[in-house]
Amino acid sequence: MEKIRRTKIIDVLKRTDFGETVNVKGWVRSKRGSKGIFFIALNDGSTIKNVQIVGEDANFDEATIKLITTGACLSVNGTLVESPAAGQASEIQAKEIEVLGACDNTYPLQKKGASWEYLRTVAHLRPRTNTFGAVFRIRHNMAMAIHSYFHQKGFFYFHTPLITASDCEGAGQMFQVTTKNLYDLKKDENGQIIYDDDFFGKQTSLTVSGQLEGELAATALGSIYTFGPTFRAENSNTPRHLAEFWMVEPEVAFIDLPELMDLEEDFIKYCVKWALDNCMDDLEFLNKMVDKGLIERLKSVIDTEFVRLPYTKGIEILQEAIKNGKKFEFPCNWGDDLASEHERFLVEEYFKKPVIMTNYPKAIKAFYMKIDDEKPVCNGQVMEETVQGTDVLFPQIGEIIGGSVREESYDKLIGEIESRGIPMKDMWWYLDTRKFGTCPHGGFGLGFERLILFVTGMQNIRDVIPFPRTPGKADF
Ligand code: ATP
Ligand code: MN
Repeated sequence: MEKIRRTKIIDVLKRTDFGETVNVKGWVRSKRGSKGIFFIALNDGSTIKNVQIVGEDANFDEATIKLITTGACLSVNGTLVESPAAGQASEIQAKEIEVLGACDNTYPLQKKGASWEYLRTVAHLRPRTNTFGAVFRIRHNMAMAIHSYFHQKGFFYFHTPLITASDCEGAGQMFQVTTKNLYDLKKDENGQIIYDDDFFGKQTSLTVSGQLEGELAATALGSIYTFGPTFRAENSNTPRHLAEFWMVEPEVAFIDLPELMDLEEDFIKYCVKWALDNCMDDLEFLNKMVDKGLIERLKSVIDTEFVRLPYTKGIEILQEAIKNGKKFEFPCNWGDDLASEHERFLVEEYFKKPVIMTNYPKAIKAFYMKIDDEKPVCNGQVMEETVQGTDVLFPQIGEIIGGSVREESYDKLIGEIESRGIPMKDMWWYLDTRKFGTCPHGGFGLGFERLILFVTGMQNIRDVIPFPRTPGKADF
C-alpha cells in the first residue's frame, strides 16, 4: 500500500480539496453494501463523526472485504470527494484498504442499544461507542477548562500527596496502604497492629482530599488548586458515589464567604460554557440520544444566578412545604443533615435553579470550618452555632461542590479538634498554618465526575469515568 501521511477524521471532514488522495485510519462502525458497492462508516475517536468510505467490490480482493467487519481496524487510501449523501460534506473513494486488525466475531459491541449495565462489563471497549467517546472527549475538555480557568485567574496547580498519614478527616472510610504481610501481623499486647515495621513506619492510607495540604500552599502561594484522584471507602452504592474519583480543590488566602460563593459559581459557569463552546458535536449527540433537555439545561445554568440560601432559611422552607402537604421520607429539623430528597426539592421544585447553601449547623460539618459570629434564628427561636460551609446543589446531581471558609484561629480550631476527639498527633504541620502568620482563607472541593454527569446528562457516575471503582468492583 502506498504510504500517505494520515489525516485524522476530524480534519479530513473539514477538507474541501476534493480530488486529493488522503489516508485515514480507524475502526469500522458499520459496513453495508449493495450492487457491488460497499459503504464503511469509519471512526478514529478524534470526533464523534464518522467518515464514509465508498468502494467497489471489484477493486478489492474478496479476502480483504471479508475482514472488513464492525470493530475491525483499517488503513484506507482514497480520493476525497464531495459527498452526494445528506448530512456529510465529503467522503472517501477507496483506492487501497489495509486491514490493520481484523475483529473477532465475538466483538461485544456489535449490537446497537446495549444497556449501560452491560457496557460496564465491557468497560475496556466501551470508549469505542458513540456515547462513551462523547463522554470521554468531554471529560478531557473539562480537565482543560479547569486548568485554563485557574491558570488565567493566577492560581497555581499544586500537587498534594495521595498517600497520607492523617486520618482526621476520613476516619473509617479510608483505604489503607501497607506492605505488611496481612497473614502475619505484628501486634502489641492489646492486639493492636504495630506499624513501625511497615513501609512508612506508621499507618498510612490513600487520601480522601488534598485540602489540608492545599491550605498550606494557599498560605504561601496565595491561590492554588489541586486536581487529582481521591479515594473513599464509604460503602455508598449510589449513582453519585465512586470509591476512586477525581477532585478539584482550589484554596485561596484572604477570601471571605461571599467571595468564595462567587468563585464557585463563576468556576462552574466557565466549565459549562467551555463545553458549549468546544464540545458541541458531542453535546448534540448526547442531547439526541441520552438527555433531550441537556443543551438547554447547560445554557440556562450559564444565564442563571445561583440562589444563595442559608441552611436555616432552607429548613424553614422545607418545614413550610411539609405543612402544606409535601411528604419526605426523612425528617428535616434544624440540625439534621439534609437528605438528597430535601436538596432536590429546593433545587428542582422550589427554586428551579442551582442553590448554594451556607451557614450549616457546626455539628454536621467538618472541624476546620469557620464558626459564624452569630447564632441563627429559626422560626423565631435561637439555634446552635453555625459554620461558614458552602455546598453547591445542582439539579439532578445534588451536591456538586462542598466548600468553606476555614477557621483561622488557632484556639478555636484546637477547641474543635479536642471537643470532637479528632486524632491530631500527625497533624502538627496543619496546625502550624494557624501559628505562623495565620490568615483568613477558604476553598472548596468539586467532584470532577459530578461535573461530568451534569455536563453530559449521563445518569450514573460509573458511566463518566473510564474505569469505575465501586464496592465490589475493581475490574479492568
Ligand atoms: P456527599 O454528601 O455527596 O457524599 P460529601 O459531602 O461527602 O459528598 P465532600 O467531602 O464535601 O463530599 O467532597 C467534595 C465533593 O466531592 C463533593 O461535593 C462531591 O462533588 C464530590 N464527592 C464526594 N464524595 C464522592 C464520591 N464518593 N464519589 C464521587 N464524588 C464525590
Ligand atoms: Mn460535602
